[in-house]
Amino acid sequence: MTIADIVSLPILSHQKLESRCPVCVCLTQITTIADIPAIPVNSLLLYTTRSQALSAQRCAMHLGFCENCGHAFNLKFDSSLMEYSQHYDNSLHFSQRFQQYAETLSHRLIERHQLRHKTVVEIGCGKGDFIKLFCQLGNNSGIGFDPSYEPAPNQSETENQVEFIQDFYSEHYASYDADLIICRQVLEHILDLTTFLKELRRTIEQRSDTVLYFEVPNMSFMMQELDIWNIFYEHYSYFTYSSLAYLFANCGFIVHEIGESFGRQFLYIEAKPAEEPRHLSSVPWIDPTQTRNDVAGFAERYHDRIETWRNQFKQIKRSGKKAVVWGAGARGVTFLNTLGDEAHVEYVVDINPRKQGKYVAGTGQQIVSPEFLKDYQPDIVILMNPNYLSEIQAQVADLDLAPGFLCA
Ligand SMILES: [Zn+2]
Repeated sequence: MTIADIVSLPILSHQKLESRCPVCVCLTQITTIADIPAIPVNSLLLYTTRSQALSAQRCAMHLGFCENCGHAFNLKFDSSLMEYSQHYDNSLHFSQRFQQYAETLSHRLIERHQLRHKTVVEIGCGKGDFIKLFCQLGNNSGIGFDPSYEPAPNQSETENQVEFIQDFYSEHYASYDADLIICRQVLEHILDLTTFLKELRRTIEQRSDTVLYFEVPNMSFMMQELDIWNIFYEHYSYFTYSSLAYLFANCGFIVHEIGESFGRQFLYIEAKPAEEPRHLSSVPWIDPTQTRNDVAGFAERYHDRIETWRNQFKQIKRSGKKAVVWGAGARGVTFLNTLGDEAHVEYVVDINPRKQGKYVAGTGQQIVSPEFLKDYQPDIVILMNPNYLSEIQAQVADLDLAPGFLCA
């Protein structure tokens, strides 16, 4: 299937969603940054047969930008299409590189805020890997909230330090007071951001020492470095320094720090509850000027990037070489669906054993283990995330293979 075919698929009916900025509720200063061809709406769902994967639901995205606060969001997002079940798998903890990142982050937060023998809440804990690690490293007790949580088959001792609640976090759970509230890679999925953050502020009440650590994909990096495969349907919102600071300051928090991590791919914020409202003009990060510069020409550069890959695949095909994609996460799914039939790829490698044997949403390639490559003997490995380059090169070398590497 080509991009033209994908675009011509009937666009699914959308819930009528106002094009109001979810951060500052501005309605008048919204422009369109890019129109993104139809991609699977649930790119991380695991499909057990190729035909199921091929019939995965797709939607186009219209990426909008708010000139007022510097936020980007999908103007046509339909939250009713989202399916967060136990089939949803966004765990990155199988990667050593990610594991190192998670440990370094945990140590930093533990030292900085003296979080030992304390209580930690994680909102949207996924399979619980991060909160288990955090509680183990700081001897903390934790409560993880996630509707997609499912217990691991072999529960370790650290499980006793962490309680899991298979639900969305809400005011209903206000009695779980925490010294630290972690929320990683969740805000970008949430439709009504101000209601969510204001409810969280009310839940914390007078406990003004509570530290918040939130992390989101970094839209500034995506635009500056054309990290375009990280723009996908599950993510309604795309934060910049400016919009992240605006959101927290506007919802009753004091912003202590905003920064970039994980090779600039993540934006994080550390905040505490404000005892009284502050004027937004006093928050240093709120300034959309840089973001406005990043937005300029983005649509054109986005389409150029796709065109470059079309040509790259034509060359691969002409030369009779075999290429595999490494990484069956949302980036890989977006990449393969955007290029459609032009992506000359039969298999996608993923180190997560839960994904192996399953099929890629929308395009139907089978997901295989690294060991599969010993038989398949690929000439080219296309990496979906450059952060994992050295880790993947080492794994490929261990298999006695010497393919060329390309970063998507
Ligand atoms: Zn805005």
